[in-house]
Amino acid sequence: MRTAEIKRRFLGHFEQAGHAVVPSAPLPAIDDPNLLFINAGMVQFVPFFLGQRTPPWPRATSVQKCIRTPDIDEVGKTTRHGTFFQMNGNFSFGDYFKEDAITLAWDLSTKSLDRGGYGLDPEKIWVTTYLDDDEAIEIWHKTVGLPMDRIVRRGKADNYWSMGIPGPCGPCSELYYDRGPDYGREGGPEVDEDRYMEFWNLVFMQYERGPGAGKEDFPILGELPAKNIDTGMGLERMSTLMQGVDNLYEIDETRPILDKAAELTGKRYGAHSGHAASESHPDDVRLRVIADHVRTALMVIADGVTPSNEGRGYVLRRIMRRAIRSVRLLGFQEPALPLLLPVARDCMAPSYPEVADDYDRISSYAYAEEEAFLSTLRQGTTILDVAVAETKKTGGQTLSGDKAFQLHDTYGFPIDLTLEIAAEQGLAVDTEGFRRLMAEQRTRAKADAQARKTGHADLSSYRSVLDAGGAVTFVGYQDVARETV
Ligand code: ATP
Ligand code: MG
Ligand code: MG
Ligand code: MG
Repeated sequence: MRTAEIKRRFLGHFEQAGHAVVPSAPLPAIDDPNLLFINAGMVQFVPFFLGQRTPPWPRATSVQKCIRTPDIDEVGKTTRHGTFFQMNGNFSFGDYFKEDAITLAWDLSTKSLDRGGYGLDPEKIWVTTYLDDDEAIEIWHKTVGLPMDRIVRRGKADNYWSMGIPGPCGPCSELYYDRGPDYGREGGPEVDEDRYMEFWNLVFMQYERGPGAGKEDFPILGELPAKNIDTGMGLERMSTLMQGVDNLYEIDETRPILDKAAELTGKRYGAHSGHAASESHPDDVRLRVIADHVRTALMVIADGVTPSNEGRGYVLRRIMRRAIRSVRLLGFQEPALPLLLPVARDCMAPSYPEVADDYDRISSYAYAEEEAFLSTLRQGTTILDVAVAETKKTGGQTLSGDKAFQLHDTYGFPIDLTLEIAAEQGLAVDTEGFRRLMAEQRTRAKADAQARKTGHADLSSYRSVLDAGGAVTFVGYQDVARETV
């Protein structure tokens, strides 16, 4: 079943159960200066959950475009993390609660395909609940009929939700699907989260929390007068399960990009890999990174973000550069986006016609970014290669802060790229020294206005990115975390 149809069935199921169908909010999170991109379906409904605004409907459903930059290092290595993904959700604002949330999710997941459901095998579904949430356990066991050995109690770190500040909080319950022994070890989600793939998280906003340290250490002040439901089902994960593919980079919305990248680079995808994430060949990981990142770039530019050295634009730039570099590491040296981006457009246009309508604008930003990066790469890589060779020749294991600084300052070579390339060559980088030189340069720049005009634009923007990276950020289900860019 196509992803677009899985999405349609989700909205249909909840619309039939009285939910208002609400469009996705745009990816850039504009109301919250601490959050660069929307990362969960509930973000656009936060004012309702906090009681700051009255919702126009008691229940709603949506398919929210999400970006999770903290997941970037997982992409291609696990079977289930995209930088861009779509979170299908249903929400109750003081209306229905635990029992309906659980049975609505169960019914859609297990109802047969010809009756409009997803047709998952109920015998293969596992759930987790919060330790003492006996109410949820009873619903899963008695109402739904799930045997106790597929209901796993988990602690606060995994199965408790709050926003990291005083306000609503409560236990979660998650649904997992057992994909069988080809994907990993048996024993449930606690043992192997690639074999047991999480596909749906149900959050029961039930209590009011007081102040306290972050995720786990806070007092419960009492029950909320109006209890809420917030759920998130990963659309790509459901596609992975229903399309019978190994991972979410192989579904209909990404596989054609992956195939095109394999064709360009002359790699045979999957030739050396098993089904499990742990059995992946490095070339296959790169192809998945390309497929994921090219699609993400398309969706982010479509929502009005353009590559830059700050904030959202910098996240976009890093994602694009990683895709472009992966293509080159696989052996294709020409500009690749003019060949890959149209494939991503064709994958996404059925659900998001704007990516086709606006393609001229989207592609002109993307292609220009690739050209600029390729010329930076040409200059910087040669110099970096020499420096790496010299370091190794003298038996060193760390590239000097001087060299990293020179690459940044003279050639516009971003530090993260220096770190990445050095790591591939088995070297560390003296980041301490690099930072010191950057700081000294900043001081000089302040003293010398002329100098600032010529050499320091990059420095200030890099600094602001670091600063932004240190800010406490609301990240939906993940509670409080650092949005690393
Ligand atoms: P995981 O433990 O697999 O990283 P999560 O617990 O962080 O997932 P939630 O915050 O509970 O995810 O988000 C709700 C749902 O969104 C998940 O059950 C999953 O189906 C989906 N999801 C979360 N992160 C991603 C991602 N990076 N790519 C694709 N789908 C995702
Ligand atoms: Mg996660
Ligand atoms: Mg999880
Ligand atoms: Mg979860």
